[in-house]
Amino acid sequence: MTQETKTGAEPPAFDPSAGRLVDPFGRAITYLRVSVTDRCDFRCVYCMSENMAFLPKADLLTLEELDRLCSAFIARGVRKLRLTGGEPLVRRGIMTLVSSLSRHLQSGALDELTLTTNGSQLPKYAQDLAAAGVKRINVSLDTLDADKFRAVTRWGEIDKVLAGIDAAQTAGLKVKINAVALKGVNEDEIPSLVQWAHSRGMEITLIEVMPLGDVGEGRLEQYLPLSMVRAQLAERFTLNDIDYRTGGPARYVHVAETGGTLGFITPLTHNFCESCNRVRITCTGTLFMCLGQEDAADLRKPLRASEGNELLDRAIKDAIARKPKGHDFIIDRRHQRPALSRHMNVTGG
Ligand code: SAM
Repeated sequence: MTQETKTGAEPPAFDPSAGRLVDPFGRAITYLRVSVTDRCDFRCVYCMSENMAFLPKADLLTLEELDRLCSAFIARGVRKLRLTGGEPLVRRGIMTLVSSLSRHLQSGALDELTLTTNGSQLPKYAQDLAAAGVKRINVSLDTLDADKFRAVTRWGEIDKVLAGIDAAQTAGLKVKINAVALKGVNEDEIPSLVQWAHSRGMEITLIEVMPLGDVGEGRLEQYLPLSMVRAQLAERFTLNDIDYRTGGPARYVHVAETGGTLGFITPLTHNFCESCNRVRITCTGTLFMCLGQEDAADLRKPLRASEGNELLDRAIKDAIARKPKGHDFIIDRRHQRPALSRHMNVTGG
């Protein structure tokens, strides 16, 4: 086995003696999002610039290192793991990592192993994901219009994504659609997107565009407050607030006419930090304690410094002790520059 495909040194599953990760505000860290690559086969206009410089492959954590890192968090009480990117399914050997991590599902240490994907590779991987114990996935899709889809993703083909969604549902995976609300792009289409998702038994969550990374377009042109979208939707549908929580930032409504669930993620018009239970790791092993703040901890160094996990554990604990109370994104005419210089594909959406 090459180093790239060998995974799964056996650290403990949940280790009660290690102690859970609790931040200074009493929030238990139970959810880890891991970006397994910064590369993607799409170039969504709000996420990346067209000519992105990607990280040298040597800087990336190997699959074995990613497994060790995730397992160290699971040993300290993380119950949900989401693989993201970039596009997680374009990382070479990704299924080796998924299969290896699935041992934590079997042991009961992990409640959920899931991923966020653009769907393009699902025809190839949906069956394997289901076989590895993945039950639900998020698929990002902002429009059903082939031309708009191409314009938003720059490189994407909608037919591949729709085939991917079909493959996922055929494999028994529950699919949730994530759509970024984009002014003048999918603004008029959101009601039909909701109807389409619900007609296929899928939840859909709308996301406000966040000011991450310079993408070569003014954010003000892209930003569509979900308060406006919701008001528009309410003219057509009966939206009933429900107390459904997934531990995340979304707030949900039940749509009476479709019988489906619709979520709103509103980092700009509604702050969701008080219930934050998550941290993020980049594909180079940098831990971000908050999506909207610059502070980070390098976990690659302690990971590579020794075969044991002592240094790594200490670095994780020290970092969680610095998790900030919250973030403050602003997009208005005076703040058109990105709030943070890093792109979403680096931190992992
Ligand atoms: N490639 C995968 C995908 O398409 O879902 C995973 C990574 S992608 C960065 C994750 C999510 O972040 C996608 O739903 C994408 O639409 C969203 N996203 C990217 N940049 C964003 C931004 N600036 N504001 C809000 N959402 C963003």
